[in-house]
Amino acid sequence: MSDRWTQDPAHRPRLRNRSRIRSRRLLFLLAAVALVALIWSFSNRVLPTTSASESRALLPGGSADRPDGSALPATGTGRYKIVVDAGHGGFDPGAEGASGDEEKDFTLNLATKVADLLRREPELFEVHMTRTDDTYIELEDRSGMANAIDADAFISIHGNTFVEDPKVSGTESYYYDSGSQALAQAIHGPLLEALGFRDRGVKKEGWKVLTTSQVPATLLEIGFLTNPAEEAKLLEPKTQDQAAQAIVNGLKQFLQTAGKPQ
Ligand SMILES: [Zn+2]
Repeated sequence: MSDRWTQDPAHRPRLRNRSRIRSRRLLFLLAAVALVALIWSFSNRVLPTTSASESRALLPGGSADRPDGSALPATGTGRYKIVVDAGHGGFDPGAEGASGDEEKDFTLNLATKVADLLRREPELFEVHMTRTDDTYIELEDRSGMANAIDADAFISIHGNTFVEDPKVSGTESYYYDSGSQALAQAIHGPLLEALGFRDRGVKKEGWKVLTTSQVPATLLEIGFLTNPAEEAKLLEPKTQDQAAQAIVNGLKQFLQTAGKPQ
């Protein structure tokens, strides 16, 4: 019995043609599958290495056109938890300024301004104040508030004092643990720029609110209340507004580097 193809040789080329077309289609299909697989594995490899800030910047409500021009990305699932601490209060007046005003009032005014600025961006910040009136809060309870909520930053606001010499002036920012140094530094620069006081530096010091803090923490000595000129400036609402904005700007700068809460 003879094969019908062998009987009709005319069919053979057609068969070869068909099989060539089929194998070309197969090759094309394989190439397409390989390409898709390649793209898939590439994208899988690339995505996880995208930095957290980059991927968060892609989230809706991102930062590109924030009204204040800051490049801070919008939050993912969490907001930055910030604790603003107005130094002293109640029976503890803090420093007595050259004018007789007390430090506890200055710190509450400025801390309130900082908190108010942060509250303007509720999508970004969850704001807590250690006190909102003239009451004394134990030092470890202040940092304790920040620890309890695992805050992204704790900012303690103070006015400096040096009664022995009213000419002593300037801004100094403190941190204790190395993880807090960047926070102190980030805020110190904008504060100097806003107020134009003498730069007394960013310093490490074991203030109790700093040593008991388990989150990035800074204590800001905005200026010397015992220096008449500096105090007069610090008591001006306009100066306090500028100082508050500087603190917020520095804080944002720090948070941008530190990354976003999950
Ligand atoms: Zn103080």
